[in-house]
Amino acid sequence: MNYKIALVRGDGIGPEIIDSAVKVLDRIGKKFGHQFMYTDVLAGGCAIDATGEPLPEQSVETCLKSDSVMLGAVGGPKWDTLPGHLRPERALLGLRSAMKLYANIRPAVLYDALVSECPLRTSIAKEGIDLIVVRELTGGIYYGERGRGEGPMGRDAFDTERYSVTEIERIGRIAFEMAMKRRKKLTSIDKANVLESSRLWRETMHELKKEYPEVEYSDMLVDNAAMQLVRRPSQFDVVVTSNMFGDILSDEASMITGSIGLLPSASLGASKLGMYEPIHGSAPDIAGKGIANPIATILSAAMMLRFSFDLEAEAKCIDDAVSEVLRSGARTADIMGDSKAKALSTDEMTALILNRL
Ligand code: NAD
Repeated sequence: MNYKIALVRGDGIGPEIIDSAVKVLDRIGKKFGHQFMYTDVLAGGCAIDATGEPLPEQSVETCLKSDSVMLGAVGGPKWDTLPGHLRPERALLGLRSAMKLYANIRPAVLYDALVSECPLRTSIAKEGIDLIVVRELTGGIYYGERGRGEGPMGRDAFDTERYSVTEIERIGRIAFEMAMKRRKKLTSIDKANVLESSRLWRETMHELKKEYPEVEYSDMLVDNAAMQLVRRPSQFDVVVTSNMFGDILSDEASMITGSIGLLPSASLGASKLGMYEPIHGSAPDIAGKGIANPIATILSAAMMLRFSFDLEAEAKCIDDAVSEVLRSGARTADIMGDSKAKALSTDEMTALILNRL
């Protein structure tokens, strides 16, 4: 099969880690008989430098015509003083909205070999962490009506959380489908004891669960979820929640796995066209030094194969290669912990993963 992939290399370490992912994809293509064709797309700070805007129209068009989009990272101190609408981060919002991506998928996995990196008690870490947060991405309080005014206590401000059944159903469906492909366990997180929007969320999820009798479904209040994530993260398989709760909980889930350089993400919508990127930023402090950990981006490529192209065996091949390399003791500087071994460069780590494929 042939697949067209738009590459947003972006800023900082973005180009370095995308290079690694491309090498891995090419090796997978050779092994399984696929051809991946890449088109470079300008977005972020580098696009501002080249064209004066963070997301040129041409870039959006190329992404929409592709089968999938891979993004390194955008942003950096050079562009920090620009007005909001000209900031590199606008490129991310612009792409998500143009591609109609309403679901953000973030796996949080603690590798056996990295249990010592986990900030939780060893006894908890040893039970394992292997969960996915499915976050609603284009609705809720971040997009609701907002304003400022005069209230009974003086000057005030408000933001509105509003969800339609359609929005809840479509994110719920993605989460149920994901649970079906994993351990068949889904936890829906809300604040239904207080919020009307959460009560509608819960009602809608309960309707939906009738279509997935094999999935062990439960509701959890967000305050309890925040505690349970650090008390016993092993209880979670797939977690689905609203935009704001997902924003906070997905960061908490990432943190407990110990390294930002290992975690991939996917943004999905109604079609197969998705955007895949590491959860970390452009790491300007280490850009150009050749020491960035490429694993989060390589695992993002695996997610792309799995979710956009339905290439499960190919995706698993990458996941397994990464696990094996980590188990062998190979480490980039960010995951060295107390190890006395030599920290590997981006290229060295990539080469080890390529060898295992
Ligand atoms: P960051 O994730 O870029 O860096 C945080 C720390 O983690 C740094 O010390 C960095 O060196 C380290 N780190 C991150 N990725 C690493 C990797 N792959 N290997 C080794 N170490 C790694 O977060 P930040 O410093 O808050 O943000 C830097 C810039 O990135 C900002 O301009 C921010 O707006 C942008 N940003 C972009 C995205 C994105 O493109 N999706 C996401 C977050 C932040």
